[in-house]
Amino acid sequence: MLNGMAEGGKTGMGGAELELLRQIRGRVRRSAGVALGIGDDCALLRVRPDEEIAVTTDLSIDGRHFHVGWHPPESVGYRTLARGLSDLAAMGARPLAAFVSLGLPKELVKTTRAGRSWVSRFYDGLLRLAEEHKTPLAGGDLAESPLALADIVLVGAVPRGHALLRSGAKPGDAVYVTGALGGAAVGLDKLAGLAEASTGKKQVRIPERWRLLLQPHLYPQPRLVQGEWLRRYKIAAAAIDLSDGLSTDLAHICEESGVSAEVNAAAIPISAGATLEQALHGGEDYELLFTARPGKRVPVSLAGVAVTRIGRITEARRGKAPITLLTAEGPRPLARRGWEHFV
Ligand SMILES: [Mg+2]
Repeated sequence: MLNGMAEGGKTGMGGAELELLRQIRGRVRRSAGVALGIGDDCALLRVRPDEEIAVTTDLSIDGRHFHVGWHPPESVGYRTLARGLSDLAAMGARPLAAFVSLGLPKELVKTTRAGRSWVSRFYDGLLRLAEEHKTPLAGGDLAESPLALADIVLVGAVPRGHALLRSGAKPGDAVYVTGALGGAAVGLDKLAGLAEASTGKKQVRIPERWRLLLQPHLYPQPRLVQGEWLRRYKIAAAAIDLSDGLSTDLAHICEESGVSAEVNAAAIPISAGATLEQALHGGEDYELLFTARPGKRVPVSLAGVAVTRIGRITEARRGKAPITLLTAEGPRPLARRGWEHFV
């Protein structure tokens, strides 16, 4: 729990994190789902009697999922929470509470000359998104580590037996995505380019004119409202969030459902500036991919986010690639070539 931070001897850190803990406690929202938050040995959460608990955990490591020298600290905090919230969205769950544990080198906890530490700016980004989705931070831990890493745990609630699963797709279902794909890959490419151009500098400076292009990578929007809607109105038969890329995440649905799929290349909504390859294989767009039974009425947009039909589910074909991409040149197997982060 975050009160572990008070034990300076254990973490190897001093009074700075005590002050940080006080600040964070003061900024955490109250919520009916959290009976007891930061400050005791455990948090106590409350769910309604007809609900079950959804839990997801996600580890972000410097050099693999983010770069301390590339990403603004606010973006690292924001993305850490976005990854967890996006998993809840994929199940149609509502967030109850978030827990974040950090391992950080000493210099990231120290207050800089500008008066802020890296870690307090990390929490600025995380708490901004938490506020947007009314998700209280109910605990966590902080320890000194040679490598910066952030582990997020999200706890959500979903009506019993009604969570959206990867295993619900059947032949004949239509396949849909929310939003547009490839934008995060474009942003990451641009950020890597800026990093290359500023070697020797401690932190990449992002010029104002690139902010919009980098937005989908630095500050992706988890689709919680859309996920909850798809569950509540029984629109989706199967769902997953696009964290690894369309080619990989659709393969997960095919595997879990025991089916194959056809995707129409011309129908894929591609983000401005992105290529078809980036839309197919670039990860971290955090849009929702779902299937719906034939004849099901699916709205063209949900809470201002476009919903696009991109293909259909077919019978599983033994020994063949589960996904076929239909292009103007004819059909071709779509290999799973998902996000490999910074490797
Ligand atoms: Mg996921």
